[in-house]
Amino acid sequence: MVCPVQAVPAAEEPRAAWHRPADMNTNLLDFDLDGLAAYCEQLGEKRFRATQLFRWIHQRGASDFDQMSDLAKSLREKLKACAHITALPVLTEHVSADGTVKWLFDVGGGDAVEAVFIPEDDRGTLCVSSQAGCAVGCRFCSTGHQGFSRNLSTGEILAQLWYAEHALRKRLGTGGERVISNVVMMGMGEPLQNYTALVPALRAMLDDHGYGLSRRRVTVSTSGVVPMIDRLSQDCAVAMAVSLHAPNDELRDPLVPLNRKYPIHELLDACERYLEFAPRDFITFEYCMLDGVNDQPEHARQLIELVRARGDGRSWCKFNLIPFNPFPASGLLRSPAARVTEFASLLSNAGIVTTVRKTRGDDIDAACGQLAGDVKDRTRAAERMARQRTIVLKQVP
Ligand code: SAH
Ligand code: SF4
Repeated sequence: MVCPVQAVPAAEEPRAAWHRPADMNTNLLDFDLDGLAAYCEQLGEKRFRATQLFRWIHQRGASDFDQMSDLAKSLREKLKACAHITALPVLTEHVSADGTVKWLFDVGGGDAVEAVFIPEDDRGTLCVSSQAGCAVGCRFCSTGHQGFSRNLSTGEILAQLWYAEHALRKRLGTGGERVISNVVMMGMGEPLQNYTALVPALRAMLDDHGYGLSRRRVTVSTSGVVPMIDRLSQDCAVAMAVSLHAPNDELRDPLVPLNRKYPIHELLDACERYLEFAPRDFITFEYCMLDGVNDQPEHARQLIELVRARGDGRSWCKFNLIPFNPFPASGLLRSPAARVTEFASLLSNAGIVTTVRKTRGDDIDAACGQLAGDVKDRTRAAERMARQRTIVLKQVP
């Protein structure tokens, strides 16, 4: 049998300074451009130097100050003494037969997070994690079943993109051309419960001197942290996906426990407010299809009513139906394909744009909700996860 997973030469990966002296305290991945400019100012440097530095880091993937040939030697020496550019150690990497790549990153303390690259004809999407574990505890989500460990820093969020982008460029030999065109904050964690770290990371993604992604191509997915939806609309209004999963509070309360705090009508009010600032004229609702739970025609009809009650007759949302990725502890099953199709038709026939998410990277467990999903006891989780994976291609020390 041909192994669907291809080995990748370790020597070609971008190198990060993982072992750094203790006095080099500042990780420059932790900054958006304004943050880096403020940091450079403390070193007595002008903003344009920060811009140069930012471009070296994010556009060129540099982690060695000596590479940065257009920076004055004196600045490079200053930076070497007090700063570093440190990515996350890669524990494992899996490449699926369909080209999907999944990395498992060590974030210390026995925790690990995953990022997944999904190539398509017209785009390359990176799914990024925002937390180790998640406190929301949705019933159908294996990250939620793990519980919450900690928030990732801005640098840890950006390190996933930094590493993936530059590793893929080298591997695919793009000659410096961008590989990742879209970012979705749909990995592990609830991004809007890690707001302070999230916003600078989003800004670096959007910055023309950073990754230069348009606001339409960066999506925050949330289970519905209403006050933070409003704040995001003011601070960094990127595309918004909302994990709805149920048409009424009675059903949503046990599936997405945050619903008890921010029930559906408050969440939809927040969506309407967000639309005034959003880069797209719609909100995407994610809806995980759970056999016999939320997948009946009656549920589709209730959803249609919810949508029609708002938007003044305009189309203001889309639905993305996600086939559930089952895991034993959930006690839930995936809806049969025919029921998903029927549900999609009911919504579509009512004029609601509806898509059914393709599953990608099935052979490497790269699908939503499967991320780092086999960890319940987090003791030395990263090491155990690396061992448990079916095929470990590469272990980076
Ligand atoms: N916390 C955020 C983003 C991460 S989850 C949120 O909940 O939106 C990303 C998406 O994967 C969400 O829509 C989530 O509901 C979905 N998801 C989680 N577990 C899943 C599973 N087992 N099967 C299918 N989708 C799942
Ligand atoms: Fe957290 Fe999202 Fe999973 Fe819910 S679906 S537990 S919010 S990661």
